Amino acid sequence: MRSPGRSEPYQKFYHVIKSKTFAVLLTVSILSISIWQIAELTEKRTLDQLASTGELRLNLYATTLRNTMEKHRHLPYVLARNDKIIDLLQNNIPAIRVNPHLEDFARASGALIYVLDQGGTTVATSNWRTPQSLLGHNYSFRPYFTDARSGQTGGYYAVGLQTRQPGFFLSYPVKDKGSFLGVIVVKINLEAMQETWKKSGEAVIVSDAFGVIFLTSNQEWKYTSLRELPDHTTQRLQAVKYLNLPLPTLQLERHSVRNYNILQLDTTRYLENALQLPEYGWRIHYLSSLEAVKNNKALAIIVATILSSFLLLTFLYIRERRQKLISRQEAKRAQAVGEINERLRLEIAKHQLTENDLRQTQRELVQADKLAALGRMSAAIAHELNQPVTAIRTFVASCRILLERNEVDKVNENLDFIAGLTDRMGKITGQLKTFARKRKGKVVTIELGALIYNVVRQLEPQCSKAGVALSTEVDRNCRVSIRGDSLQLEQVLSNLLHNSLDAVQQASSKTIKVLLQTTNEKAILTVSDSGAGISDEVMDSLFDPFFTTKEIGKGLGLGLSIAYGIVEDMDGSIRAENLQAGGAQFIVELPQAGQE
Ligand code: ADP
Repeated sequence: MRSPGRSEPYQKFYHVIKSKTFAVLLTVSILSISIWQIAELTEKRTLDQLASTGELRLNLYATTLRNTMEKHRHLPYVLARNDKIIDLLQNNIPAIRVNPHLEDFARASGALIYVLDQGGTTVATSNWRTPQSLLGHNYSFRPYFTDARSGQTGGYYAVGLQTRQPGFFLSYPVKDKGSFLGVIVVKINLEAMQETWKKSGEAVIVSDAFGVIFLTSNQEWKYTSLRELPDHTTQRLQAVKYLNLPLPTLQLERHSVRNYNILQLDTTRYLENALQLPEYGWRIHYLSSLEAVKNNKALAIIVATILSSFLLLTFLYIRERRQKLISRQEAKRAQAVGEINERLRLEIAKHQLTENDLRQTQRELVQADKLAALGRMSAAIAHELNQPVTAIRTFVASCRILLERNEVDKVNENLDFIAGLTDRMGKITGQLKTFARKRKGKVVTIELGALIYNVVRQLEPQCSKAGVALSTEVDRNCRVSIRGDSLQLEQVLSNLLHNSLDAVQQASSKTIKVLLQTTNEKAILTVSDSGAGISDEVMDSLFDPFFTTKEIGKGLGLGLSIAYGIVEDMDGSIRAENLQAGGAQFIVELPQAGQE
């Protein structure tokens, strides 16, 4: 459908957006965008959930670690004031009296406890009975010793030289009246806690200030570094803390998704929640696998795709049904139209038959009419001619008698009568000839004023004899001219005047008027009379040949028919109408000369 007044590009655009392909593309695009949006939303929600759960778990792990550490924090402080240990360091009692004492403390706390003298050599230890006994070993190189010697509380994570086991070393100086005697060391074992982490199946990491992972639920990450370490740092760490462990850099990639830290370790991606533990200089990380995000996103895409396919199919199904319904309705409508058409066809056929019947009847009527007209004509002609023939026969017989009597004068008189009768007969046959022959007059310019004057003058004696007032206001010299045959036009006017004369015979006031009017192009000739006028029936057949209301012998019914033909040949028209005051008038309109 074309909308009027729209530009060509608009029309093209209108057609494109109305097309089926466009509708399909639009629907697919909208569905794809919706599915993508749902997937994005699911990813965001799952990430948010993972992050908040991670935060909770991280705090839990951090609290557990802190509790374990805090449990032992005061132990070195308390032991540094133990008389036995002070006595031992003052060489007042042998180590054998202190070792079981330390062993008791160790059993109760689960930690390894040992005493270093001023030079950093172990003089008593809780593991004195084990093959890894620390007795006699010097740890002056360990930072916890140097820290304690300088009066500070020592504390750091390291792998034990003898035990080969990692642990957190807490140290405190043993003093007597302000003089440094030695150092008490408590090594907290965090391995048990680490085992619990492993069993939980969660990914937890604790890294030191250098980024070296020393506690983790995943054994493979242990003693690896989260960032690349310079060689001298590695060497130093190996010397004092990690016993020549290689400390390789952990292969990981970091990036950010929706403001969350994402770590990629090998093929697994994790969301990282991390917390700084400033009191130890450590950082604890809780890693949540992004597998759930991936799965949830995939699930969301699948569910959304199934749902949208279902919606699309439902929509298509409904549309299909609607179209079927419309088609069915259209088929019904078409059937109804077909039935109406069939009925119409039958009706037309019936009408056709009726029309044929009517035509046949009409033909028969025309035929009958023609025959009737022919009958009327024959009767009229027979009567018209019979009368003079009978009269002639009588006159001839009379002439014979008069000749026998030798009355020549009377014979001459009779012959004059006979000549008059033959003239009348000639007139009748002449009228018939005019009607039968195709009129072909001589076309000249006719001055109507003069023509009317002549015809009126010829008829005047007849009128005055019948007591009819024939009047005309037409000036014989008026300059109204037409083109045509003047004799024929005279015949028309004469015919009209004769008819009027006949019409006024029975009227009380007997007047006939001839008028001539003009318009720009036409000359209008009017003949009116004060007769009885023309009845409706007569009006219909007025110009038909052989139509007459006059008695047989008074008219042939050819006058108006001939006049009609003549006026038509001159490109004019003739019509009759009744006057309001009574009587009839005939109006002849002819094109003025030079106007046609
Ligand atoms: P005819 O004069 O031989 O009858 P026309 O063709 O001249 O034939 O006229 C046909 C008929 O028209 C007449 O018989 C008459 O009935 C009617 N008619 C003609 N002129 C007049 C008139 N002025 N007033 C009334 N009737 C008329």
